[in-house]
Amino acid sequence: MTRSDAPQPPALARAGIDRSAEEREQPDLVDSLRADPATRVVAVHGDRGLVSTSGPHLHTVGVADVSGDVEWAFLGRDDAGFAMLLAVSGPDAEPPVVVPDGAEWAALRAVGGELDPVAAALLVEAVSLGRWLVDAPFCPACGARTRTRAAGWARHCPSCGREHFPRTDPAVIVAVQSADGERLLLGKNALWAGRNMYSTFAGFVEAGESLESAITREIHEESGVVVAASSYRGSQAWPYPRSLMLGFHATCTPDSVVRADGVEIVDARWFDRAELAEALAGRSTDGVALPGTASIAYRLIVDWVESAP
Ligand SMILES: [Zn+2]
Repeated sequence: MTRSDAPQPPALARAGIDRSAEEREQPDLVDSLRADPATRVVAVHGDRGLVSTSGPHLHTVGVADVSGDVEWAFLGRDDAGFAMLLAVSGPDAEPPVVVPDGAEWAALRAVGGELDPVAAALLVEAVSLGRWLVDAPFCPACGARTRTRAAGWARHCPSCGREHFPRTDPAVIVAVQSADGERLLLGKNALWAGRNMYSTFAGFVEAGESLESAITREIHEESGVVVAASSYRGSQAWPYPRSLMLGFHATCTPDSVVRADGVEIVDARWFDRAELAEALAGRSTDGVALPGTASIAYRLIVDWVESAP
């Protein structure tokens, strides 16, 4: 596959702030930064961040704006060296801040592709860490309530002494083209009932499995086709709920037969570049919708449309 330009990174992996991980071991780092009026806060409510309604731009707040029962963590430092903290509450709890004028809550998956690269990376870091802080307060070994440490990046169990860290689940996501390179195979997920949406195939890497084996297995299970070759494209975190999406382009064998599994994938069909270009522009004649710009699936599909067979 050839491309006219250097490949674009996935939307949530275009940049990153300095996570300044060496600072996390300073005792009481979060408390001291909460006392510093220069500190900025990324407020997160479930998978949503605060964005400007005129943007979207990521809307940070001051420490004093945060109220209620929230978890705090240190996200890193911005270009000017200012500390960035996370203040997070779960989706069923009160939001960590009252929405300021000119801002609104917006889901990472909805706005991540429209935010500037640094803001998108900051929000995916904040939502990913925040989900773990909110969802995993208890020790998986003994069930005791843990205490956060390392500025929110680890939990210590006072009962059994174990340390716990945010968990990431690897998942492969694969754009499969025909043997001649002229068509791309996409599937309609059962979860999208009622929507005419098609996307690339994806699945979790199982215990003891290589990425290459996961690709072969998932693609065959979901679509029936046999992968002949694959190449790694790039990755991004996807905190729904805690995935690391590993993106690949693949080509199937010439004699592959498409057969959707009928359970997870209710339909699988081929698209040519012209059809997908129309769908990406929102002009699909048969009403096909494609994944949003924040997703790595979007990046894989755009790659393929822009590539020469
Ligand atoms: Zn324990």
